[in-house]
Amino acid sequence: MSQNNIPYKTYLEESEMPKQWYNVRADMKNKPAPLLNPATLEPMKFEELRPVFCDELIKQEMDDTTPYFDIPQEILDFYKMYRPSPLVRAYFLEKYLDTPAKIYYKFEGNNTSGSHKLNSAIAQAYYAKRQGLKGVTTETGAGQWGTALSMACSYFDLDCEVYMVKCSYEQKPFRREVMKTYGAAVTPSPSNQTEVGRKILAEFPGTTGSLGCAISEAVEAATSKQGYRYVLGSVLNQVLLHQSVIGLETKTALDKIGEKADIIIGCAGGGSNLGGLISTFMGEKLRGEADYRIIAVEPASCPSLTRGRFAYDFCDTGKVCPLAKMYTLGNGFIPSANHAGGLRYHGMSSVVSQLYEDKLMEAVSVEQTEVFEAAVKFARVEGILPAPESSHAIKVAINEALKCKETGEQKTIVFGLTGTGYFDMVAYQKYNDGEMSDYIPTDEELEKGFATMPVIYK
Ligand SMILES: *Cc1c(COP(=O)(O)O)cnc(C)c1O
Repeated sequence: MSQNNIPYKTYLEESEMPKQWYNVRADMKNKPAPLLNPATLEPMKFEELRPVFCDELIKQEMDDTTPYFDIPQEILDFYKMYRPSPLVRAYFLEKYLDTPAKIYYKFEGNNTSGSHKLNSAIAQAYYAKRQGLKGVTTETGAGQWGTALSMACSYFDLDCEVYMVKCSYEQKPFRREVMKTYGAAVTPSPSNQTEVGRKILAEFPGTTGSLGCAISEAVEAATSKQGYRYVLGSVLNQVLLHQSVIGLETKTALDKIGEKADIIIGCAGGGSNLGGLISTFMGEKLRGEADYRIIAVEPASCPSLTRGRFAYDFCDTGKVCPLAKMYTLGNGFIPSANHAGGLRYHGMSSVVSQLYEDKLMEAVSVEQTEVFEAAVKFARVEGILPAPESSHAIKVAINEALKCKETGEQKTIVFGLTGTGYFDMVAYQKYNDGEMSDYIPTDEELEKGFATMPVIYK
């Protein structure tokens, strides 16, 4: 089977782990647009962001020029508990598809939180601790971010307050309990605990919540208390910076086995795993050193890149956050129930949005039943039960491998397997029982979302 002696799994030595994060913005000609103060429409200044975010993280957020940031030793030590993560050659999937393509996946699900989100959670908790803060607040959609953050906070002995989108809170009681086990306080959102939560509840009684809404609550909770800051699990530049560890390891592992990627695929919710996976490859592309096809995959039910607008919008439903320029469906867009909870965000990272706008990468959308079909195939041949979010990338990797079968090309496909799906068994049950449906918003429905964007930026 291993004709060319490439192992099934390539692990790096601990000594080969990256010691620095890579900041792709340093190599971008067109920098991502800055966050704007919604009152003045001027770029947010360091001082203005200080009540919300930790100081060191604001510096990382605003730095478009420094290519490498040292990873502090405490974070490297924590990374060693679950990193380097394996780069897996999907021999069994290749055989099943009968494709000449070589398929690799970078598996980020091998930690208790079950996803890549721990890479940034531990960094954000570290900087909060170093600043002497009491705790952090955050939102969580599907629950992976909240879980990762609660693990990171318990490691550094910080309070962790999580606003969890209500439908997930109800659908995923076990996620909730993992967070509580690590010491986090978990509140279903929208809640009565914040002003913005009460306002949303009054306007939309019976709403099962959204990420944008939970963000508003978490920001309010952080800024209304002494010694707390808000942290976010995706979208922001700093999160992509921390996630660059995924791509750096992938590149080192590929180099080690003498392999070069042709196509790199990642699922895209807020854009952090994708931004992290592609970082160093995109850097080579931007500097003209190599070329790669890079594909973002999003759900057809929440198609920010493929059907959204590239404009300034609020990051949250309550409009308490700064404005970000990004591909967006409008801050008031509430996606239909979709089982890939981590991909239900109305916007997209400014970095990924700018790279997409500059045609340095592609985007496609896929429907959830075809995604679960791919997930089940993958689980049966490769053994890992994938997260629904990750399965979006699996679906497109399979599509590309099948194209190679038609053309006879032996392309090398690398995709990000961002997490495991053990907490998504309600979704798998729906699929297994033939009760899963697809929902694609109509143009009229999207217009309603666009109508919620700040007027001057339409
Ligand atoms: C959160 C999450 C995603 C999507 O978030 P990004 O910021 O777009 O990476 C993808 N996969 C898993 C498993 C997740 O938990």
